[in-house]
Amino acid sequence: SSFFANVELVPGDPILGLTEAYNADPRTTKVNLGVGIYYDEAGRIPVLDAVREVEQRLAAEAKPRGYLPIDGMPDYTKTTRELLFGVESPLLAAGRVATTQTVGGSGALRTGADLLKKVLPHATIAISNPSWENHRAVFGAVGFEVVDYTYFDAATHGIDFAGMLADLRKLEAGTVVLLHACCHNPTGADLTVDQWRQVIEVLRERELFPFIDMAYQGFDQGIDEDAAAVRLLAESDIATFVVASSYSKSFSLYGERVGALTVVSADADESKRVQSQIKRIIRANYSSPSTHGAALVAGVLGSTELRARWETELGQMRERIHALRAGLVEKLVANGAPEFAFISEQAGMFSYSGLSRPQVDRLRDEFGIYAVGTGRICVAALSLKNLDYVAEAVAAVSR
Ligand code: PMP
Repeated sequence: SSFFANVELVPGDPILGLTEAYNADPRTTKVNLGVGIYYDEAGRIPVLDAVREVEQRLAAEAKPRGYLPIDGMPDYTKTTRELLFGVESPLLAAGRVATTQTVGGSGALRTGADLLKKVLPHATIAISNPSWENHRAVFGAVGFEVVDYTYFDAATHGIDFAGMLADLRKLEAGTVVLLHACCHNPTGADLTVDQWRQVIEVLRERELFPFIDMAYQGFDQGIDEDAAAVRLLAESDIATFVVASSYSKSFSLYGERVGALTVVSADADESKRVQSQIKRIIRANYSSPSTHGAALVAGVLGSTELRARWETELGQMRERIHALRAGLVEKLVANGAPEFAFISEQAGMFSYSGLSRPQVDRLRDEFGIYAVGTGRICVAALSLKNLDYVAEAVAAVSR
């Protein structure tokens, strides 16, 4: 008999299942808006020029592949800190910021969750309603109780900000609060700078622990603009917080798993002790991170010329998303569906379109257009070629 005889089958991830269904669909007009990836106009995941340049250099150098330190490549973690806080940040000068290379943004979330479970063993974590599904899974896996705070308002397609503040005020001191820095996944609804100030004031007053997830820096307004939440927290009186960041989207390096966990402590000594704990967590988990993706990012950000080229390429991705949002709204209006104007107000790759489950099903069955059951669409998977088709279809199922 088998020790596995009673193992239950876990249902597959619904979003990945969607892509399987899309791939099996024979219709040539099909469109997959269920993904979480930026595609270029040709429908491909771009390879950025700046990245290609470093990659060619690395291939020519053919350096030996030794192990990285447990917390990653020093050039990578340094440049990551600087990108998050700005080179001039007094926190960096004070040695209060420790950055660890992680296996994607997901690995940063998990390592951060492990750290906080150790430091705040009885804490609860509050995530936005809705949030990226993996937030619940990661913090739940570590043993956190996961609760929601009010966030999205389906009636306005924006944020129920009063509801959000009220919910944050109700949390017990020491609760971890997960916040999306920008390009909220899945809704596309972001806080304004003024709203961030108010949220941070509540976090400070109620002694809550901020955990920022920044998976899309540079995908909405720009590298510095999109880091407003991190920069405002850095300026605040809040002594300790965590940032999980990812280069998956901003460098189009999804499979290279390039992320970072950055922890701000009250002083340099505390920071060293915290970092030693993070190293222990990683050591017992996967020992040390991989080299290639980090070498690509560090190579680009460490060169003035390549960094400028990357910023241009990132700007092009961002502008293209804005153009697709505007184009979709325009064509929806032309098809008699002006109620979708909010799509151009939302930020990042995703939009909570407001489409219902039956409407999403009709899009799939009648038009071969795949969206998540919640109505989440990936704007960055549209193209100028399929915009008319998608707009007509969305208008048709909305009538
Ligand atoms: N946080 C959010 C909000 C995300 O959307 C994602 C990726 N979809 C991640 C974290 C994880 O990023 P990575 O792919 O780098 O693990």
